[in-house]
Amino acid sequence: MPTRTNMPVPKSGIMDISPYVGGDASVEGLARIIKLSSNEGATGPSPKAVAAFQAVGAELHRYPDGGAGELRAGLAEMYGLDVNRLICGNGSDEIISHLIQAYAGPGDEVLYSEHGFLMYPLGAMANGATPVKATETAYTASVDGFLAAVTERTTMVFVANPNNPTGTYLPQSELQRLRAGLPDHVLLVIDSAYAEFVTRNDYAPGIEMVSAHDNVVMTRTFSKIYGLAALRVGWAYCPTEIAMVFHRVRGPFNVNAAAQAAALAALRDIRHTDEARAHNDKWLPWLQGECERLGLDYIPSVGNFLTIEFGTDGPHSAAAAQEFLRTKGILPRTIGGYGLGGHVRFTVGLEAENRAVIAALEAFLSSGDGA
Ligand SMILES: *Cc1c(COP(=O)(O)O)cnc(C)c1O
Repeated sequence: MPTRTNMPVPKSGIMDISPYVGGDASVEGLARIIKLSSNEGATGPSPKAVAAFQAVGAELHRYPDGGAGELRAGLAEMYGLDVNRLICGNGSDEIISHLIQAYAGPGDEVLYSEHGFLMYPLGAMANGATPVKATETAYTASVDGFLAAVTERTTMVFVANPNNPTGTYLPQSELQRLRAGLPDHVLLVIDSAYAEFVTRNDYAPGIEMVSAHDNVVMTRTFSKIYGLAALRVGWAYCPTEIAMVFHRVRGPFNVNAAAQAAALAALRDIRHTDEARAHNDKWLPWLQGECERLGLDYIPSVGNFLTIEFGTDGPHSAAAAQEFLRTKGILPRTIGGYGLGGHVRFTVGLEAENRAVIAALEAFLSSGDGA
């Protein structure tokens, strides 16, 4: 191959990034797929959200409302929030990226936990900042681990609560202890993408912490319980000053019109959201119980997914499990990129999907070692 020496060269650090690889979506030769690789809500979007999306089809020549005014007003009303402190993004991923762009650059350190969501280190590297991993305890973010990793270069700390791909969470008291231990100039971002699924009394998504402090942002998404991942819409609650920073770096029309309309309709369909939560409350414990019956270790989860441990070696390794499931059209998520090469993450699916997963795992475990 000829070497091309006169090509434009990206800024240093960009080529060190391993591009994000999404969950599998198809298997060649199989028409029917059980896709459990991206934590999209099992029960799908509200029919009202779909109708709102379709209605936008008649107005495609119009730019969207760049300030996402109705959606932000809807969020403010639903949660009792100050509308000026609400921002919307093209997925919460966009909010995360722009916050890092605004608050971290070369020489700065961005902290995240050992098995934390990969968007944080990717976003740090894209901006020339240094991602730094804090140690965890039992696959759970550790406040002491975070605080021990803070240096004078730290400008941001990211904690997904609950975390993806582990499904573990920190109680509100621990998040408060984390914030209290950080210097005031360090921005704490609480990524509560799965907040709507969590049914624990000691859990809080972070709204009160944002209200009470100048250095906390909470991000949320319509991609998970609301089932609108295709439309890319997320939101955040933040100090007004940080909202004003975000408005300076975001695209003027960053959230498209269909996304805004569908998200608002989804938000208002409380019954649909309650049903999605109830579905998860039924099937997550069922999956955990079935793992116990099959002798499979898992990481206890409060999200809409379950990470199961298979190990890295032998006939029943994570890679072997994934391969076996693939032949049955079942697509979970391998998470070697998270330092969890012996684990596989499964989104909670519909009843038939969950039953198919367990039946397939049972067949897998009884195969291969002389059975
Ligand atoms: C899925 C997910 C997101 C959501 O991303 P969107 O860009 O809003 O689709 C954010 N954080 C975590 C931890 C997630 O798992």
